[in-house]
Amino acid sequence: MEIRTNAPVAVVGAGTMGVGIAQVAAIAGHCVTVLDMNAEALDRGRTGLGASLDAAVARGRLDQAARNEIWDRIHWSQDLALAANAALVVEAIVEELEIKRRLFGGLARVVRFNTVLASNTSSLEIGAIAEQLSLRGRFLGLHFFNPVPAMKLVEVIAGPDTDPAVVEAVTSLMRAWGKMPVRVRDVAGFIVNRVARPYYAEGFAALGEGVDPATVDAAMVEAGGFRMGPLSLADMIGHDVNYAVAASVFDAGVGLPRFRLQEAQRSLVERKLLGRKSSKGVYDYTAPLPAPFYIDGTSARIEARVSDGGLLRPVVEAARAAGVAVLHDDRLPPETIELDGIRMALGDGRTLAERTGVHILVDHARDFTIAKTIAITARSASHAAVAAGFFRAAERRTLMVADRPGQLVLRTLAQLANAAADTIADQIASAEDVETAMLYGANHPEGPLSWARRLGCDRVRLTLGHIARATGDPIYSPSALFEGRVS
Ligand code: NAD
Repeated sequence: MEIRTNAPVAVVGAGTMGVGIAQVAAIAGHCVTVLDMNAEALDRGRTGLGASLDAAVARGRLDQAARNEIWDRIHWSQDLALAANAALVVEAIVEELEIKRRLFGGLARVVRFNTVLASNTSSLEIGAIAEQLSLRGRFLGLHFFNPVPAMKLVEVIAGPDTDPAVVEAVTSLMRAWGKMPVRVRDVAGFIVNRVARPYYAEGFAALGEGVDPATVDAAMVEAGGFRMGPLSLADMIGHDVNYAVAASVFDAGVGLPRFRLQEAQRSLVERKLLGRKSSKGVYDYTAPLPAPFYIDGTSARIEARVSDGGLLRPVVEAARAAGVAVLHDDRLPPETIELDGIRMALGDGRTLAERTGVHILVDHARDFTIAKTIAITARSASHAAVAAGFFRAAERRTLMVADRPGQLVLRTLAQLANAAADTIADQIASAEDVETAMLYGANHPEGPLSWARRLGCDRVRLTLGHIARATGDPIYSPSALFEGRVS
């Protein structure tokens, strides 16, 4: 089976997603019929799609002639019967099981014997939508990301009765549309909304323990390497939307503790503090945003002693290049730097209180070579100032985080890797597809397993074990994949 890019496509729902999907399909060469029961939605969709194509012309991505051809290939209607000739129908209507079921029931009566039907649902089970459908073999999930023209990822979800040849044909078609398709089992959250959950959960957990939001976000951006911090990202998405995704994953996981909902976020939703769209969320957008509190370093000349810098080596080398006296001292454990008798060690999931003889705990950066900020936990303000002086010499800024198991960046990265590992251990998706999904569907700077492999899976397992013990929370228990219990 094959769906060619000159075959007709229908998109049902002229909202945010439907219009984006129609645009991508028309650019790929299809004649596209956009169907919506609401005439105003069709008008809005047509205007929006026209503006989006014009913007592509203005940016030099499309010439005017191509724009006009694409535009002429798109038709708009309220008449569902016009889906009759489509080789593929993509549904992007409201996220309501009964309404989607009714729509597909209606489509099944008008489409050809070999039309493929797809739902863009983000939280419903494909099997549940298809339950009463006569065409279950030709029905599957195609989960696009917003904005569709810019986001490369598409999660392709087979229902229990989907014909593998249909999955194959649609996967190839998505590549022809310029997308990166990944295959996912029919589970709530698919890959991205399931594996990305800890990013928000850890942000809210730190906030709940009194870490100030600007520090959480700055540490995750400047040391973690993420494009946005978890709290400002959730403010941008809208807490109602983000919380609803979390709730659907939690409900479908029948209350698994790892997907439990964040009280702090629920409270924001209840108080209608939805984020940027309501001017207030975690942050108040009617006032200047708070800046993170970077620590001033002492300017006294410091001497650093180190044996094996390990992951901290790029920072040590930068300090040495800036003129700090760095002496080799075999007696020191690896990844430990001694500054005039003050001992600074890289975090391993244990708290500073548990680390006898250590004065400063350095949180991880995703990559110390490029991290411009280092987060630390210190026993006293004077210890913190000495550390900040050393990092300033190495051209890094210093942030202070509370003494909590796994600190902030390490704990978040480890939990993202844990969620990814479970997704593989539970045979929801392949390791390669999980990595692709997080890079192209969540815009993460690195796949969670790539990070875990660089750190060493044993080290990730030990770190998670330390966090699980210190917090007493089973959500940190290392995945079976890290325990070597998965072949
Ligand atoms: P939207 O509210 O912007 O648009 C939905 C459109 O569907 C509206 O124009 C509405 O008039 C139309 N519609 C509703 N019922 C209909 C019916 N029975 N027949 C024909 N048209 C009907 O919604 P959206 O944000 O584009 O989301 C659509 C789907 O995509 C949902 O299932 C959602 O979960 C999923 N999704 C959304 C996003 C996102 O970021 N917005 C991302 C991925 C998936």
